[in-house]
Amino acid sequence: MVIGVPKEIKNNENRVALTPAGVAEFRRAGHTVYVQVNAGVESGFEDEEYIDAGGIMLPTIEEIYGISEMIMKVKEPIASEYELIKEDQLLFTYFHFASSEALTHAMIDRKSVCLAYETVEKADRSLPLLIPMSEVAGRMAIQEGAKYLEKPQKGRGILLGGVPGVKPANVLILGGGIVGTQAAKMAAGLGAHVTIMDISLSRLRYLSDIMPPNVDTMMSNEYEIREAVKTSDLIIGAVLIPGAKAPHLITRDMLKLMRAGTVLVDVAVDQGGCIETCTPTTHENPTYIIDNVVHYCVANMPGAVPYTSTVALTNATLSYALQLANKGWQKACRDNEELKRGLNVVNGKVVYQGVADAFGLPL
Ligand code: NAD
Repeated sequence: MVIGVPKEIKNNENRVALTPAGVAEFRRAGHTVYVQVNAGVESGFEDEEYIDAGGIMLPTIEEIYGISEMIMKVKEPIASEYELIKEDQLLFTYFHFASSEALTHAMIDRKSVCLAYETVEKADRSLPLLIPMSEVAGRMAIQEGAKYLEKPQKGRGILLGGVPGVKPANVLILGGGIVGTQAAKMAAGLGAHVTIMDISLSRLRYLSDIMPPNVDTMMSNEYEIREAVKTSDLIIGAVLIPGAKAPHLITRDMLKLMRAGTVLVDVAVDQGGCIETCTPTTHENPTYIIDNVVHYCVANMPGAVPYTSTVALTNATLSYALQLANKGWQKACRDNEELKRGLNVVNGKVVYQGVADAFGLPL
């Protein structure tokens, strides 16, 4: 198959869909890979590395779309890319169709085959191509939180791990899923006192078994959250209710209970946020302050660490992409239910229930 990797053109997107190692895997399987010049440079991969791996560089995005049977991307195509997409062309990328009617109609009109990373789903309902970005965001949440706890950043001026003779910081993590677990590991590793709250008792049991002794688990409810915020230095919002807006677990009135300089990192901001006072921010201007409490609410946290995010993403996508290239999308989706669940729009028709429901389109 002929695979094309364009340079991402969405604002502030520095990731790339394939690393040189990924190109080498495609080549070993007998495929041809075209990579747009400079596609990997923001993620730390030079054109020469792609060439050494067997890739062929093309200077323009038009040439990449023009020659490829499968386009591998990171973000959904933006308006200027729509007209480059050809009938029957396979697009393997994040789409998040339900949040854009314009994109959905554009892909229907282009009659392409859209396989969305975010709906590739395993039998246990886990989403293997979303997990890597949650892992990155969870780990980053503590790194960012630690930074904004510093006094010059308007934080409480407390070191997460303390020092001998000085108590460590208290970190409260709401939600013990992928983000919460990774955040807890990082905070615990730095020596903080960590509390993870979740509504799933079985999840709390699991976390209690695997976490180090400086991590406590608690049932999440309004009463316990209201108590815990009084002594927390850093609070991480990491809840998810699949298919729904995040619940507001930290309400506006709770800010008054917090100490000045407490830092809130609402990772769930992309689902509406679990902290009532959080609204999406950007890496250029990540924080704001309400009632002396620092709010960090960046909606695309992995974008700040494109090297790590690119490698983590391609580690997860590559085996699926190889199946698509080796068998063609129809046979690959027949053979693998996980991939089949990724199909959203096929040759002018919506084939994913959630997208059809979102815009009242026939399935
Ligand atoms: P996950 O499904 O693995 O975990 C969510 C956890 O929240 C589950 O364990 C669930 O039991 C728990 N939960 C649900 N309701 C709760 C409540 N009332 N109190 C406490 N816990 C509750 O999800 P995840 O992969 O960890 O993702 C968490 C959030 O982070 C999602 O909203 C996701 O979209 C977001 N995210 C954001 C970024 C970013 O850049 N901002 C990046 C990746 C993921």
